[in-house]
Amino acid sequence: MMDYYKAETPEEAVGQMGQLTDEGLQAVYYAGGTEIVTNIRKGALKVDAFIDLKGIPEMHLIEVKDDKIILGANVTLNQIIEHPETAFLKPILDKIADHTVRNVLTLGGNICGRLPYREAVLPLLALDADIEVCAQEGVEIYKLRDLFDKRLKLPKGTFLYRIHLLKNRNTLFSRRETEHTAVDYPILHTVLYSDDKKRTVFMGISGFAAFPIYSVVDRKEETAEAVVKRMLQEVESLAKSDDRAGADYRLNLLQVHLNEWLGGKL
Ligand SMILES: Cc1cc2nc3c(=O)[nH]c(=O)nc-3n(C[C@H](O)[C@H](O)[C@H](O)COP(=O)(O)OP(=O)(O)OC[C@H]3O[C@@H](n4cnc5c(N)ncnc54)[C@H](O)[C@@H]3O)c2cc1C
Repeated sequence: MMDYYKAETPEEAVGQMGQLTDEGLQAVYYAGGTEIVTNIRKGALKVDAFIDLKGIPEMHLIEVKDDKIILGANVTLNQIIEHPETAFLKPILDKIADHTVRNVLTLGGNICGRLPYREAVLPLLALDADIEVCAQEGVEIYKLRDLFDKRLKLPKGTFLYRIHLLKNRNTLFSRRETEHTAVDYPILHTVLYSDDKKRTVFMGISGFAAFPIYSVVDRKEETAEAVVKRMLQEVESLAKSDDRAGADYRLNLLQVHLNEWLGGKL
């Protein structure tokens, strides 16, 4: 028997989590529920209670304030794709599942989930997003990059409330390879980005290892070839082999992506 709580404010959600934890119960925050329900069905997740975040209205909004875009963690991937200020993320997000499923998948669920892919985190890391994390003491702001190491390491009992992005006019490069159809988990999804000054290069990859990886490389005075080599060396040892592709194949694909972008643009 599992209990269900629908929070209507952030305070209510963290308060409920604190209370259930104090009672020795295992509770999870619930957004679209796709991953939670699948894991419970498979017996991979056992919980006593759900705290549904969908009753918190501001978590469903995409707001634009001056030079900032504020995304509630409950916005769906399709909401982001369809909003004029965030449509630049479409080439990355519209590869995740299909249109119908993306109406349910939330940004927060993708970032905080346990699947190895979590592709929506790549552009947010690239654009150095800030995140609002809701704790019993109130809302704290962190750099996403400071809390993301293989997965989003939220302080115990807290939840991802909102994400802040600066409006972006630069292009994010992305290439995604799958084994069969486009609607499939990636063998490799590469996101590359450099700001106007082009002094640093961001590389974020998913499907390559058991978790999303990113690195920010200072270009120094190096040639494009030297930058590519350094970026490959950084991640080489993490390449995974599975029934869909070998580590060498993934590494070769990454080199192709890097050459395609860095060769032409730096
Ligand atoms: C058919 C299908 C295809 C998919 N294909 C891809 C793919 O190609 N690439 C990819 O990256 N993903 C893919 N996914 C995975 C999917 O993107 C994530 O599992 C999904 O986004 C989870 O969203 P949700 O809202 O349903 O999360 P939920 O199931 O509600 O939650 C997932 C996890 O995140 C936690 N959580 C949710 N919201 C918050 C929050 N605000 N703060 C803290 N913790 C939170 C929950 O406690 C849970 O642990 C696919 C999923 C499906 C169903």
